[in-house]
Amino acid sequence: MSAPAELRARLRALPKVELHRHLEGAFRIGTLWDFHCAENAALHESEAALRTALEVPPGERPGFLPFLNRFAALRFPYGNLDAIRRLGREAVEDAHADGIVHLEMRFSPVFLARRLREVPVSDAPPPDELVEAAAEALIAGAREAAAKHGVSLAFICCLGRHFSAATNRPSAELLRRPVGRHFAALDVAGEESYPMAGMDGFFEPWRAAGKGLTLHAGEDPEGPGARNVRDAVEVYGADRIGHGVRAAEDSATLALLRECGTVLEVCVTSNVQTAVASGYAQHQLRALLDAGVKATLNTDDPALSAIDLTEEYAHAHERCGLNLKQLRDLAVAGAAAAFLPEADRRALGDRIAAAWDEEIDKGL
Ligand SMILES: [Zn+2]
Repeated sequence: MSAPAELRARLRALPKVELHRHLEGAFRIGTLWDFHCAENAALHESEAALRTALEVPPGERPGFLPFLNRFAALRFPYGNLDAIRRLGREAVEDAHADGIVHLEMRFSPVFLARRLREVPVSDAPPPDELVEAAAEALIAGAREAAAKHGVSLAFICCLGRHFSAATNRPSAELLRRPVGRHFAALDVAGEESYPMAGMDGFFEPWRAAGKGLTLHAGEDPEGPGARNVRDAVEVYGADRIGHGVRAAEDSATLALLRECGTVLEVCVTSNVQTAVASGYAQHQLRALLDAGVKATLNTDDPALSAIDLTEEYAHAHERCGLNLKQLRDLAVAGAAAAFLPEADRRALGDRIAAAWDEEIDKGL
């Protein structure tokens, strides 16, 4: 096995796929602080205070709701559409520096629109035009950086399970607007104790338009667990599950995932920090793979977790006990499960397999 620094350098250089990254959890803290100062916002006293509010401290396991509550640190005005464009650009630059060749970026268009300075702080959702403009700006910024660095992109529109229907509607209905063609899939994130029924009315138009569906389920240690994973597959027909690690608690759910070929988007550090895994060594990933379930490796919220995808691969190897062949298979599985046309998925998978096989042959 390579020494830790060498292992990370080699893992960083290898092509990787990120299927589960929330834009809102991937902002650069320095950029947020620039916005905070430029907009004379008063939420944080200093950049250090912003970092403290956002980042999970090393060694702390705050649990699921305290983890989600950290997103409150982001709720201040960021400025105009140029600020949103910058966030898109930087998110792709950071992914590229991490060796990510295909990035699926999920974000809440309503959240982004609320960061525009002209949107008043209120419970009412922002006007549809601004929600669309914010999404367009983000996508334009991301595309600009992706073209420069040769990164493939897919965008996922993210709804909140604990948001009201009125709050989710402007995001979900972007499908009908010109910007809708840029989204590859729909996602639902958030508090799992909230019922999914009521959200499902949003799914049908996306499915009819040929878009993918990924649902967060089985990531809350206090939530319904495997039951939510089963519902995501059986009731809502999700192609992929965000996390899904609590499927490991139930053999019938494991069998269902195997049968349907549903792919789990596993994020090990996030799972340790939300306490759904009691540690890296105890993480469910190995058991899920041993049970024949398809899984991929992702970051979830690199800014909150103070990690990148390279670090997640290193943790999976050094602390979760996966061997290098298993890391390689996770990377290839990411390509196979990407929300891309089939020919692109295959080409991406071949490229990743060839690069990892060569590196493993050289003694990674
Ligand atoms: Zn997530």
